[in-house]
Amino acid sequence: MRKILFASSEVHPLIKTGGLADVSASLPIALHAHGHDVQIILPAYRQCLEALTEIRTVATVKLDGYHSPIEIIQSTLPGSDVTILLVHSPEHFDRDGGAYGPTSGGDWDDNAARFALFSRAVAAVAMNETELDWQPDILHCNDWQTGLAPALIADLPRRPATIFTIHNLAYQGLYPKETFGMLDLPERLWHSNGLEFYDMLSFMKGGLIYSDHITTVSPTYADEICTYEFGYGLEGLLAERAKEGRLTGIINGIDLDDWNPKTDAAISKNYSAKTVKNKYDNKIAIQQHFGLPVKSDAVVFGLISRLVAQKGVDLTIDAIATLLDEGENLQLVCLGSGEAGFEQDLRVLRARYPDKVGVTIGYSEELSHQIEAGADVFLMPSRFEPCGLNQLYSLRYGTLPLVRNTGGLADSVVDACGDDLKHNFATGFKFDAATAEALEETIRRSITLFKHPRVWRRVMLKAMEQDYSWKKSSQSYELLYDSLRAKLARN
Ligand code: ADP
Repeated sequence: MRKILFASSEVHPLIKTGGLADVSASLPIALHAHGHDVQIILPAYRQCLEALTEIRTVATVKLDGYHSPIEIIQSTLPGSDVTILLVHSPEHFDRDGGAYGPTSGGDWDDNAARFALFSRAVAAVAMNETELDWQPDILHCNDWQTGLAPALIADLPRRPATIFTIHNLAYQGLYPKETFGMLDLPERLWHSNGLEFYDMLSFMKGGLIYSDHITTVSPTYADEICTYEFGYGLEGLLAERAKEGRLTGIINGIDLDDWNPKTDAAISKNYSAKTVKNKYDNKIAIQQHFGLPVKSDAVVFGLISRLVAQKGVDLTIDAIATLLDEGENLQLVCLGSGEAGFEQDLRVLRARYPDKVGVTIGYSEELSHQIEAGADVFLMPSRFEPCGLNQLYSLRYGTLPLVRNTGGLADSVVDACGDDLKHNFATGFKFDAATAEALEETIRRSITLFKHPRVWRRVMLKAMEQDYSWKKSSQSYELLYDSLRAKLARN
C-alpha cells in the first residue's frame, strides 16, 4: 500500500473544464480500489464548497509569503470513498466563475498567485508540515497549476518521490519575470535549468525539471513532445528526460461506471454489445433533440469539444459544409463552448443547414452522454491530442471514432481499411493530414462503410470490446510509484 497525494486543479464532478478533471477522479478511484491510501488535493473553489455536503477543516497552515494561515478542508469525492483535501483561500478561490477565469475562455489576472499558493499548500501537505499528520510516499502533480510544488520540495530531506503528469503541453503557466519576484519564490529556482524559460517564469518547468519522473497521457504524445512540432521549445529538455528513462507515456483510462451504455441514466435506451440494436433509439432521440428529421439512413456525426484550434473545429466546419453542399446524406450534432469565432461559425453552419446540423453552445454532461449514445460516428480531427477521452467513450458506446492520427487518438483507434478491416481489428477511422480535405475524404469513407450494415456492426462490436478501463494503466502508475520510491530510498 502506498500513500499518494494527487494534486490537480480540477476534479470531476466538482469542477471540470476538460479531460484533466475526469482523470483526476477516475485514476485516484482506481488506485484506492487497489488498496492505496490516496488523497486528492485541489483548490477550494466556490463550486466545490457548494457541491459538497460534508466538509470539515482539518488543518491550518502558514505558507511563506502569506499573512493569514490557509485552511485545509477535508471531504470525500462524491460517488467514491476517496478523501479530498481542499485548499481554502477565499481570496483566491471563493468567487463566481470558472477554475481559470470568469468565462470558459478567459483567465483570471491573479492565476499566477492563485496556483503558486495552491502549489505551496500542496508542498506543505507533501512534507507533512500540517496538522494532518500524514506524509505521502508519492506526490503526483498534474499540469502547470501544480508545477511549483515539486520545485519547492526538491532539495528537502525526507520528501516524497515526485511525479509530474503532462495532460497538455500547450498550457504552461508562463508569466513575466517580475511575477517570479512578486510570488516570493526562492532565488535558487531562477535559472535556465530551473523555472526560467527565455526570461519568463514557467510553472510547467517546475514540474519538468524538479520532479523525479515525468509522464504524459499516451505513448505517442510522449514521443511527439520530444519534437519541434509539439514541444513548444521544451522538446530538448523532454528528449533528454526520455533518454534518461524519466519520461513515460501511459494512456488514460476511463470510468467504466460513469460511461456505460448498459446503465447510463442520461440516455434514452440502454444497450450493450448484445442489445446493440437498441442504440438506434438513442439516434432517434438525438435527432429529435436537435430538431433534425428522424432518418435512419442519414449518418449522424457527433462532436463534443472545447472549441479551440487544437481540436480542429475549423476543419470540421469546412469539411461538413463541403459535404453538405455536395448533398451527402449526413447530420452533425455538436456540443461545445470556447472561442467566440468558432461558436459563431457553428451557429452559421446551423443557420445554413437547419435540417442537417444541430448545435448547442454550452456545457452539458447529460447531453454529452446523449450524443455519445445517439451518434453513429464521433469526430475528433484534433491537430494534437495528448490522450483524448471522447474517442474512448465513443468506443465503449459503439459510436465509431473518426480521428486524426496523433497522440492518444493514434494509440486508441484502428482504422477501418485494408487488412485491419478484413481481419476484424478495425474500431474507427483515421487520417493523417490536418486538412479539411483529408477529413472530408475520411468522412466520405465512413459514409460508404455505413451503407454496409453488417460490416458496420462488426466494427461497432469490435469497438465496444476494447478495454480502456484503468486496469492496465493504473498498474503502470503503481509500478512507476514503486520504482521511484526505491530509487529515492537508494539516493
Ligand atoms: P480536453 O481535456 O483537451 O478538453 P479530452 O478529450 O481529454 O479533451 O476531455 C474532454 C472532456 O470534457 C470529455 O469528458 C468531454 O466529454 C468533456 N467536454 C468537453 N466539452 C464539453 C461540453 N461542452 N459539455 C460537456 N462535456 C464536455
